[in-house]
Amino acid sequence: MRHALITGITGQDGAYLSRLLLEKGYKIYGLDRRTSLPTTERLRYMGVADDVILLDGDVTDQGSIVRALQAAEPDEVYNLAAQSFVGASWQQPVLTMETTGIGAVNVLEGIRLVNPRIRFYQASTSEMFGLVAEPVQSETTPFHPRSPYAIAKLFAHWTTINYRESYGMFACAGILFNHESPIRGLEFVTRKITDGVARIKHGRANELRLGNLDAKRDWGFAGDYVRAMWLMLGAEKPCEYVVATGHTTSVQEFCRIAFDCVGLNWKDYVTVDPQFARPADVPTLCGNAGRVKAELGWEPTTMLDELIAMMIEADLKRVGDERR
Ligand code: NDP
Ligand code: GDP
Repeated sequence: MRHALITGITGQDGAYLSRLLLEKGYKIYGLDRRTSLPTTERLRYMGVADDVILLDGDVTDQGSIVRALQAAEPDEVYNLAAQSFVGASWQQPVLTMETTGIGAVNVLEGIRLVNPRIRFYQASTSEMFGLVAEPVQSETTPFHPRSPYAIAKLFAHWTTINYRESYGMFACAGILFNHESPIRGLEFVTRKITDGVARIKHGRANELRLGNLDAKRDWGFAGDYVRAMWLMLGAEKPCEYVVATGHTTSVQEFCRIAFDCVGLNWKDYVTVDPQFARPADVPTLCGNAGRVKAELGWEPTTMLDELIAMMIEADLKRVGDERR
């Protein structure tokens, strides 16, 4: 039986990846940091909370990673732990650098010490392209990070490549474009919109306040994207891969589709509020996933309309249940 250790197991991708790897017959361990309330809500939502083994630890605490690696004896480590919200990274830049950047070094260094044959996946991001140098971004597009989050991720990305080149470790980085689901954090714009639509539809709110409506993202479904992570660690050689749908959509258009799902006009409810604008935004992202498709046979299965409908349905049900 293959063993996997997932940092960030309680996050969106950790929950989807846990379900996928359990279906593949893995034994799953997850690094779980101490919090005053339980953080297993997403694992419960995916129906896997009782099937994974949680180990106390934090990616900023090297000793806890070494102990987790010794206990789990993993064949594969997926480093998903991060302060992952771009907006918060200007408010907490040091914490973001330590968790999202140094955290990856701690995990890589732990692997080098405990067992350098462990295969390693780093959750890199399209935010590293930032102020894009090319209209469609691939593995060869130059980087121009625009936030403390993106800078921390770029540091972790190059550290991953350096550990591969220095020590011959099987260290991969997936450059994943935005991916969403019904368990996406409520602060991200997609989920903020679908939650807002559900609240308005149920009469719990009468407006939705957003920032930059012109920003464009290449949005995919988290369930598809975690499959790419697993494929990368099963590949013949470690590499970087862009994972994206190849379609880009504005926040405004996302709003239109989401409000349409419940028969409402977004223009009647959405208000622009400067407090949600960023000191430096990423205006547009669109990925070319040609390499992961050609080399690993990955394809997205869920397109944006379907994803939005899935998120709206789940939020309508959740907000409806809250009323009872
Ligand atoms: P989430 O924010 O949903 O999950 C982040 C996870 O990291 C949570 O489990 C969180 O734990 C954990 N975490 C935070 N700080 C620490 C710490 N110091 N030690 C240990 N664990 C910690 O992110 P996603 O699931 O959406 O994303 C997964 C990864 O992929 C992240 O690294 C993200 O930056 C990256 N990424 C995501 C994209 C997306 O569109 N979703 C796109 C590209 C990259 P807790 O539950 O306790 O908060
Ligand atoms: P990101 O791509 O990781 O930053 O994902 P987000 O979902 O946080 O933001 C995507 C884009 O939506 C960014 O360009 C934001 O500026 C824009 N946006 C517009 N309004 C909002 C808002 O109210 N909240 C968030 N999170 N983003 C917003």
